[in-house]
Amino acid sequence: MQEIRFIEAKQLKEKPDFKNLGFGNYYTDYMFVMDYSEEKGWYDPRIEPYGPIMMEPASMVLHYGQTTFEGLKAYYGVDGDIRLFRPEKNMARLNESNKRVCIPEFDGDLVIEGIKKLVNIEKEWIPREEGTSLYIRPFVIATDVHVGVHPSKTYKFMVILSPVGAYYKEGINPVKIYVEDDYVRAVKGGLGYAKTAANYAASLKSQIVAEEKGYTQVLWLDGVERKYIEEVGTMNVMFVIDGEVVTPELNGSILAGITRMSTIELLRDAGYKVTERKVSIQEVFDAYENGKLDEAFGTGTAAVISPIGVLEWNGKKITINDGKIGPVSQKVYDTITGIQSGKLEDKFGWITKA
Ligand SMILES: *Cc1c(COP(=O)(O)O)cnc(C)c1O
Repeated sequence: MQEIRFIEAKQLKEKPDFKNLGFGNYYTDYMFVMDYSEEKGWYDPRIEPYGPIMMEPASMVLHYGQTTFEGLKAYYGVDGDIRLFRPEKNMARLNESNKRVCIPEFDGDLVIEGIKKLVNIEKEWIPREEGTSLYIRPFVIATDVHVGVHPSKTYKFMVILSPVGAYYKEGINPVKIYVEDDYVRAVKGGLGYAKTAANYAASLKSQIVAEEKGYTQVLWLDGVERKYIEEVGTMNVMFVIDGEVVTPELNGSILAGITRMSTIELLRDAGYKVTERKVSIQEVFDAYENGKLDEAFGTGTAAVISPIGVLEWNGKKITINDGKIGPVSQKVYDTITGIQSGKLEDKFGWITKA
């Protein structure tokens, strides 16, 4: 494996108030960086001071969006150890996203080494209070200085860190979700399964409309018929219908969440029936009418589990499980956060210690 250089900062920043972090507001002193060229492949992995990067205005990423990203977290355990949750899955997914937008493959083990090293250097930046963590954002950008639509020949890989507050400060709050049946986020054959900027640019407009109507996020339907459920903004979605957990199958336009995968694995292990298949929005509303919609929840790294309290579609508004978190959602939340904090045994082998 390549040697990871360390370039020391002349001065360290003052730390923010760890009681008021929010999400994505502060960045640490260092970042991981490596570069790519056709001759050298991925080269010069290093940890250097976090700061502005010099780019020419004609840099390709700025024009055609050839870029990908990931999101994971480092947690301070109750035992003082630093834990990463399934980072090898993030690396595999980033390589899948890269493949889709013609970014060359990288060595996931090398980047995990870089992340471990970076996180250890930045130990003091990891908040320790329950529910808090250090958010890790790996991303890749196309850096050729050229205006013209084709894949870049040079890239930059970076990993930046941001201390983040607890998602739920006063207990788990169910969210209100608006079902979008006009705009679409992705279609089969498109970019939906890749964590790439275009998908998020496509989502902004309807996110604003949903917020104006008093909703937290949008639930996307399929891009062809606007009939089948895809996912929420940055979360996959699951429903408990008549005791069975159902979730949209991965169809090429849905992001394959690692929290989704973990939820399915742990629920099956706990004896629940979990089915991945097409789920129409009509089916969910029918289940509600028949008194069979027990729970609905989103899964994602940021909140782990977001129970859905209210769902609006086509002028109809339903309140699920009295707007409270249900037993399945609670179980998944407690199990995953328990493993992440070291309170529960890592029986599935999901933890990498930093
Ligand atoms: C990142 C993301 C998710 C959740 O993935 P996790 O690996 O569970 O964090 C779901 N949907 C979209 C669109 C995403 O970008």
